[in-house]
Amino acid sequence: MPEIVCPSCGAHFKIEEMDYEGEVSCPSCKALLHVIISEGVVEEVDLIEEGFEEESWLEDEDLWETEEEEEEDWGLAEEDFWEEE
Ligand SMILES: [Zn+2]
Repeated sequence: MPEIVCPSCGAHFKIEEMDYEGEVSCPSCKALLHVIISEGVVEEVDLIEEGFEEESWLEDEDLWETEEEEEEDWGLAEEDFWEEE
């Protein structure tokens, strides 16, 4: 089986087609790739669209922290709300 190396994240994955030309998405980072496979040989791998996992990893960390903080605030706010009522 021809093996494709993702130009976005470097992951190796195999594709079952021996002759293929078209779009494939990386199973690791979901980048959209244009590949040309001829007789089981990968002739071309072009990155069409970057995978979003690598970049959003950092963003996700920030998001998680923010979400947790917000949740705590909400909990306190609710308690105050209940007491007042
Ligand atoms: Zn990838």
